[in-house]
Amino acid sequence: MKIEGVILPTRGHNASWNLEVSDGIIRTMEPVTHQHADAAATPSLLLPALCHPHIHLDKPYILTCNHGTSPDHPDYSDLAPRTGSFGEALSNTSKAKERYTAEDLYLRGSQLLATGHRQGVTSLRAFVELDHVTGIQPLTTAIKLKDDFSHLVEIQICAFAQDPIFSTQHGEENRAMISAALADYSAHISALGTTPYVEDSVDASLRNIEWAVATAIHHDLHLDFHLDYNLTAPDTTKPQTYSVIDALERQEWADKANRSNTIVIGHCTQLSNLAAADLANLADRIKSSKLPVFFVGLPTSDLFMMGRPDPSSPQHRPHHRPRGTLHVPSLIKDYSMSACLGVNNVGNAFTPYGTGDPLQLASWGVGIYQAGTVEDAQLLFSCVSWGARRAIGLEVTSDNGDIKVGDRWQAMLRVENEQCWSLEGRSGRAMDVPARQRMSFRDVVWDPPDVHLRSIIR
Ligand SMILES: [Zn+2]
Repeated sequence: MKIEGVILPTRGHNASWNLEVSDGIIRTMEPVTHQHADAAATPSLLLPALCHPHIHLDKPYILTCNHGTSPDHPDYSDLAPRTGSFGEALSNTSKAKERYTAEDLYLRGSQLLATGHRQGVTSLRAFVELDHVTGIQPLTTAIKLKDDFSHLVEIQICAFAQDPIFSTQHGEENRAMISAALADYSAHISALGTTPYVEDSVDASLRNIEWAVATAIHHDLHLDFHLDYNLTAPDTTKPQTYSVIDALERQEWADKANRSNTIVIGHCTQLSNLAAADLANLADRIKSSKLPVFFVGLPTSDLFMMGRPDPSSPQHRPHHRPRGTLHVPSLIKDYSMSACLGVNNVGNAFTPYGTGDPLQLASWGVGIYQAGTVEDAQLLFSCVSWGARRAIGLEVTSDNGDIKVGDRWQAMLRVENEQCWSLEGRSGRAMDVPARQRMSFRDVVWDPPDVHLRSIIR
């Protein structure tokens, strides 16, 4: 394969590169100095491809699918948010789950994967729920989707307990369901995920964590928690992130688990309330444990769910809405923790909006995190690309998005530059407006290109 005349953002925009790839290895890379004046448009950019480290494959587009009423494709239109509260989202999603059909799960899942492919996603961790309501249908559908899309996107299936597994009347049944699935479909499952905060007591949450750690080690799986999804002051309720690290150490994850398996902790909005010293202590604790712990910030969901004003409070300030999301760039830059960014949900009660575009997510990160430097832009890009891949235990080519001769070729994202936009002029003749050119990570994060300018080179 020959790739000609592309800008590699890690190597500046004054040269374009010709690459040759054979047998899956980059054989040659030659710079070609180009003159902007000669070129109709700047060469296209060649970027590391995008990755969803955390996305729910069974519940996208519940609110936006606009299905009619048919036995195969249920109507969900009565489940749109009214208050937008967390309780309502959980309850409406439970109602939606009762209506799932194999056809509906496949259609919405394939729409999510096709959208990701158009946006430049080549790998993802897909969460599928297993409980007494869904049964194994989301899992068997995910296995079919993984197979049908295997030439386009690398899919890690995460068997996920969204519901309680150690409390409530269905806890035991839910746990039995996921345990059976882990045994019966082990060849297809890469990760185990649970949600300790949905248990009805602290004790049950801790049992959930202990069980998840033991079960992931037993089945040789990556581990993934939805955790600390609140903004409670840490001195009122201790974040359970500490309990996860305790459990991993107690059960000797570092010695017993497969070295390539990672632990990802998602949401963790409560950690945004930690004082500087506590953040530093947490970072030290993780570092000294030598555990492969990664945080994934899910800001589009967190911003919708967290930080809502409380009208019953005497200090009620209706317009005071803290961001209430993990500060991913600072965790990486200031505390040397490992973290990345995920979309989580699209078009459902937890996150009714968005396109699921990782580049759009990185772009929103500029405002959400007040991260506006050129270096921040590259960091935000890494969080939806190679940083996300590393978090879910996938191979990465380099630490900074660079490629070099001898590297194994990994599918990459090409972003084209347009020469101009042709509009209708006042005189009726065409009026050409030169298009702004994208030449760096900064240019695609600050101003994400339309999907029609993006393509994957395999
Ligand atoms: Zn999630």
